Amino acid sequence: MSKVIAVNAGSSSLKFKLYEMPEEKVICSGIADRIGHTDAIFAIKVGDGEKDITICNIQDHALAVEMLLEALVDKGVVKSLKEIKGIGHRIVQGGAYFSHSEELNDRTEKLIEELIPLAPLHNAAHLVGYRAFKKALPGVKHVAVFDTAFHQTMEPEDYMYACPIEYYEKYKVRRYGAHGTSHLYLSQQAQIYLKNHENKIISCHIGSGASLCAIKNGKCVATSMGLTPLAGVMMGTRTGDIDASVMPYLVKQTGKDAETIYQEFNKKSGLLGISCISNDTRDVEKAALEGNPKAVLACKMYARRVADYIGQYFVRLGGCDVIVFSAGVGENSPYFRKIIIDQVKEALHIELDDAVNETIFGGKEGIISKPTSQIPVVVIPTNEEVMIARDIVSVLKIK
Ligand code: ADP
Repeated sequence: MSKVIAVNAGSSSLKFKLYEMPEEKVICSGIADRIGHTDAIFAIKVGDGEKDITICNIQDHALAVEMLLEALVDKGVVKSLKEIKGIGHRIVQGGAYFSHSEELNDRTEKLIEELIPLAPLHNAAHLVGYRAFKKALPGVKHVAVFDTAFHQTMEPEDYMYACPIEYYEKYKVRRYGAHGTSHLYLSQQAQIYLKNHENKIISCHIGSGASLCAIKNGKCVATSMGLTPLAGVMMGTRTGDIDASVMPYLVKQTGKDAETIYQEFNKKSGLLGISCISNDTRDVEKAALEGNPKAVLACKMYARRVADYIGQYFVRLGGCDVIVFSAGVGENSPYFRKIIIDQVKEALHIELDDAVNETIFGGKEGIISKPTSQIPVVVIPTNEEVMIARDIVSVLKIK
């Protein structure tokens, strides 16, 4: 039995899960949030116990890591920090360098650093997290698990943008996708719903960020996010696909600079931008059911955009053996699942079981289509952390 830590470091947060492997048992989990603030939050939960929350000054990631390691010993989760055999880091952008997880060492660190311009906030924050753990636990090996790796099997005609090719050659401008670890997990979990080893899956990871993935025989052939997570379907606060001309047009018309509008496309658009209510599907759904016209429009647009990608991927894959819903909205919102499937059910001969659909939320897994549906529709709660834990074990060859 070995203990490993799956880490997701953001610019002001550090989420962690300590696993006992190979059992894949979560023995401790938590988060340091609002790092850099005097009223930062440190929350830790051991097993199924109560969450222990402390509000305190956490000036940087190094202190957050120290607090975590100290808490592991204090709470008796480990007798000694020597029990920790590996640490895995979620890395948002692996560019074209990484098609699978790799040991995070000086060489891979340099490559991740080189990719910072493609994901400035994320990759920089991941490295801050990595360096903090490296310093606190000098003997332990690290693994980098990339959100983009699963999408590296896309063909050039899927990942290239039709702009001057020198932008690809000089600046690496292309589609990389995101949520790859989740889509890979979902494609593996979905196998139990499939009869044949060779199969076609449309995976819908729809949470506050949302992406779809077309998967053939376990490999990604297309995905909806692009150079960055702004592309693809409409999201909580992101536009999804938008004509690039909107940007210079708005710069001229509003007098705002491109960066401001870009921030609006990322943070003030999507469900929030259209409904003027919230980025949270729960609030927008409630307002739509009460007849608020902007909320109704927001829901219809959201469903249409996801449905259009399902249709596109059905054609791209030459059929589909299962549609998977996952992440915050996909796992928890019968309403959104229904309005999405309503848009494709006629063309794809899908029959949703409305009664069953209403019962699947809060971490439950199950089929929500009728046995007569030509394509089964399933809800599978995603689990990116367990994928990180598995990769720590396999990359570091932990026994
Ligand atoms: P992230 O991209 O931050 O990981 P999640 O996958 O956790 O996002 O999704 C968060 C979103 O999921 C929320 O903003 C909300 O829109 C939606 N959501 C979460 N829980 C529910 C629920 N019980 N019912 C409907 N929607 C939910």
